[in-house]
Amino acid sequence: MKKPAHKHAGKRKDEKHRTKYTRLICGAIACMLIGAVIFSVLHMQRRTVPPVKVAEPIEIQPQAIMPGDPVYVTVNATGTPSAILWDAKSVPIFHYAGKTRALLPVSFNEKVLAHTVTVQFVGGGAMTKDVRITPREKIEKPLGIPEKLGGNTQAAATTLVNNLARENAVLNAVHTEPEPLWNKTFRYPLTDVFVTDPYGYGRQTVNQSIAHKGTDFRAVIGTDVHAMNRGIVRIARPFTVYGNTVVIDHGLGVQTLYMHMSELRVREGDVVELGTLLGKSGDTGYVEAAHLHISVKIRGVSIDPMTFMGFFTPKISDADQGL
Ligand SMILES: [Zn+2]
Repeated sequence: MKKPAHKHAGKRKDEKHRTKYTRLICGAIACMLIGAVIFSVLHMQRRTVPPVKVAEPIEIQPQAIMPGDPVYVTVNATGTPSAILWDAKSVPIFHYAGKTRALLPVSFNEKVLAHTVTVQFVGGGAMTKDVRITPREKIEKPLGIPEKLGGNTQAAATTLVNNLARENAVLNAVHTEPEPLWNKTFRYPLTDVFVTDPYGYGRQTVNQSIAHKGTDFRAVIGTDVHAMNRGIVRIARPFTVYGNTVVIDHGLGVQTLYMHMSELRVREGDVVELGTLLGKSGDTGYVEAAHLHISVKIRGVSIDPMTFMGFFTPKISDADQGL
């Protein structure tokens, strides 16, 4: 008589199992349904409430400006601008992507922290925007003079400073076209971008302090160096301190400088396009190790190349809106 009892017990066990599995399956389905509902609600919210970008009538980049930074002014206000002024001084304007703009430099030694941008419109009327400059933290770093330039001696330091003055005089005299020669966004000169030395600190050599007015990028000797935008090659020759150097004039006072190169593949007077191969990076001139030094000038003032490139790099907020 034990058999049926066993049978019943087995049946109950089976039922128990089935119930357990049914519960588990139901639970899983419920979870999936709840997940799907949450997902679609979130998705609907995202679709029905797009991110709102309120364009300021006068847009200023970067948000925090330091001495040595470039400033990018974009006029979003309706109306046709006739002039853009920094304090009371008119700056060159240009049109890009359907808007009136201006690029201007803030000197590395700027002491005045409060400025005003004024936009004047055709037919009268003007708008202003106050701009504050944030003081730059002062950083000093020791830097030895390479043996090939005389080593760390007083005489070598004097020669270095004299050579620098002579080479800077050549670079400062480079002609610029009054109109922009570029019609596409700027790009980095290297495919792989890694900054080894940023813009803006003082380099202490023997008894001289030389401000680093550019950005150093990691580059082994022989790395391809590309034109950051369309322009005319004004300089493609060797210098004692700057090594093999290329200077491209992009017009409107904007110039990009590529230094310490091992090989030059362009000649003075060449018109180069965005991305044209200029040559190969190297370790010529005043360097401790191979790298690519980039300077960006706006009307003779060397500004921070990374701040400049920030104007042309798509932002996360732009990507959100499919810009
Ligand atoms: Zn450098």
